[in-house]
Amino acid sequence: MASPTAAVMWFRRDLRLGDNPALLEACSDGAVLPLFVVDDALWRPSGSPRRVYLAASLRALDESLRELSGRLVLTHGDPVSRVVAAAREVDARRVHIAADYGPYGARRDEAAERALAEHDIELVRTGSPYAVAPGRVRNQEGNAYRVYTPFSKAWAAHGWRGPVDAPRHSTWLEMSRSAQLPDPGLRAEMELPEAGEQAARRRWREFFDSSVDDYAADRDRPDLDATSRLSVHLKWGEIHPRTLLADLGRKRSKGAETFRKELAWREFYADVLFHRPDSARDYLRSEFARMDYDDPGEQLQAWKDGRTGYPIVDAGMRQLARTGWMHNRVRMIVASFLVKDLHVEWQHGARHFMEHLVDGDLASNQHGWQWVAGCGTDAAPYFRIFNPTTQGRRFDPDGDYVRRWVPELADVADPHEPGQVAGYPAPIVDHATERDESLARYERIRAT
Ligand code: FAD
Repeated sequence: MASPTAAVMWFRRDLRLGDNPALLEACSDGAVLPLFVVDDALWRPSGSPRRVYLAASLRALDESLRELSGRLVLTHGDPVSRVVAAAREVDARRVHIAADYGPYGARRDEAAERALAEHDIELVRTGSPYAVAPGRVRNQEGNAYRVYTPFSKAWAAHGWRGPVDAPRHSTWLEMSRSAQLPDPGLRAEMELPEAGEQAARRRWREFFDSSVDDYAADRDRPDLDATSRLSVHLKWGEIHPRTLLADLGRKRSKGAETFRKELAWREFYADVLFHRPDSARDYLRSEFARMDYDDPGEQLQAWKDGRTGYPIVDAGMRQLARTGWMHNRVRMIVASFLVKDLHVEWQHGARHFMEHLVDGDLASNQHGWQWVAGCGTDAAPYFRIFNPTTQGRRFDPDGDYVRRWVPELADVADPHEPGQVAGYPAPIVDHATERDESLARYERIRAT
């Protein structure tokens, strides 16, 4: 059989040239068409911050390809028919992808595989957005892990392959027409991070050289720039966790070890979603569906607007609105507040996050929410209810974070308990009362 001479590299959540095994596979086939399909099913619900970020990331990928004398070809529409048409236009025998394990992506890829096969074109999956592909790490009985710690140990024991280089040269193919991206619709006041593989590597270098050793001590402090801010780069595959893990393996600090454990959370949640795709929408622990919740109304809107009267909650929600990112500790605090102080179901908060986060990732987001709501993995005890005022004092001890995002409180003595301040709302609920109410509702589902 004659060896194939043309291939398609279908980019999705792997917008980089370095450490991209699927791209290397494509290059080993011969000439490569670098393709990205703008899929309305993903583009429309993304929310403008993520769309704007994606557009910038695609421009960065195109620039990297141009340095190698290629260019990224965009096409817009149904991904299955678009990929088949592109492969046929360049007479490709193989289409290369990094496997997608999310519910929508896995279904889409199976459909693409069937449609391509009708034209004798093979869909080749190499690697995934994870160090260890979801579904691989199993317990001794061959079942999925339901709890993080044993998963993370088995994940580390499983290990991962080392990074691979970027292709040095290749012959790149083009199509007769390349689509334009639809307008992502950015609000002018948004401050989004720089996109692209170079930005991701730069950020990792900075963090690795100067902050990772302090990560264990400082990672819970939203007033410090103490976390990596890599989530958005990981989300779009501008850098692969394998690249990070290879560097971390050379450091012996507690910070490096803690950071590795955080990467394991990302892998764990992808694994959980892979085994329970329904958990993207439904309660992982089904008894929580029976709990009494309040209808979302004005209080949900106050939470979204950062006007609950609880400064750390409002600071987080305003940071999200302005930057598309929120510190992990504050994500936990605002999520707890919505579910346990306002008694609103986690899905409403998760949807708002997915609309605004640049790093919005179905597995990490839905399971981050379910964990806080007490209905997810690890049985985070429902009765451990964050007190937003004490959390604020503990993790933002000088109030710098709150002052930065809630300017009405810039000059008050104690920004975590502001009292009457002109222009800033009084608390919309009383935390102590709502805590008792939450526990009473929990008792009712425990008793039935
Ligand atoms: P770092 O502290 O530097 O951590 C390094 C990396 O580890 C992160 O980039 C991320 O990939 C991973 N990580 C860290 N903590 C977690 C975690 N708890 N769960 C999964 N992965 C983790 N993360 C997302 O990437 N996308 C989301 O949509 C998302 N939604 C969340 C919603 C809620 C309610 C909660 C509580 C957490 C959510 N997280 C989400 C996890 C976490 O908040 C972010 O990954 C983190 O804040 C990103 O900042 P960073 O890159 O500086 O993190």
